[in-house]
Amino acid sequence: MNKIQQKKIVKVNELLLNRFGQPPRNKNLPDPVEMLVATILSQNTNDRNSYQAYKNLKEKYPSWEEMAAAKRASIEKEIRIAGLGLQKSAAIKNFLTELKVKQGVYSLDFIKKVSHDDAIREMTSFKGVGVKTASCVLLFALGENICPVDTHVHRTVNRLGIVNGSAPDKTFWALNDGFPEKIAHSFHTNLIRLGREICTPKNPGCGSCPLEKLCVFEGKDVSNKKELKERAFMLLDSIDS
Ligand code: SF4
Repeated sequence: MNKIQQKKIVKVNELLLNRFGQPPRNKNLPDPVEMLVATILSQNTNDRNSYQAYKNLKEKYPSWEEMAAAKRASIEKEIRIAGLGLQKSAAIKNFLTELKVKQGVYSLDFIKKVSHDDAIREMTSFKGVGVKTASCVLLFALGENICPVDTHVHRTVNRLGIVNGSAPDKTFWALNDGFPEKIAHSFHTNLIRLGREICTPKNPGCGSCPLEKLCVFEGKDVSNKKELKERAFMLLDSIDS
């Protein structure tokens, strides 16, 4: 990433902080295994439903041993509210089983000692764990300065012209190649809010957007305004061990 891109990220972060404020953050970093399971549950659903699924699962299976030993269909039953039950239950069961085989314990602590790239490579070697999930573990459980790219971050950073990525994973690698220090959590979290409330996939509310002056999106429509909502509950800042 060049200096112009880095400066733009810093500016976007400032403008989003002015509009949305500093996003709240877990005081104690959760265990990386908890975070990885919670992130699998969060795919393609809202944070309230995935949090309920996470709570159901933890109540039914208080230890990782019990969860790993459970039948896949039983895990699916507990997490139904979060959708994609078959896929998510298979990913969780497979992850826990393989983690025990590889490490001998239900721990991802080994990723604390390796580079971001190696940590992502290790985590994505588990079937059902993608780059977004792995990077969420680094940001939310290890407190690393890394910006996960979901559909909202992908759309907004490309519209803004910060990167030019054809898919979220490509955007992720381009964005995190020299990401400015210390601001990944606020940038990521506030950009998701922007994407959900203002910079929506269709009819973005450019007339209400704090980033309008530096946005290069061809479909910009400043006549379109959107109302801000209350700050939404964010699952990955609400997981504790
Ligand atoms: S100006 Fe419009 S397209 Fe650009 S970031 Fe804001 S809402 Fe999105």
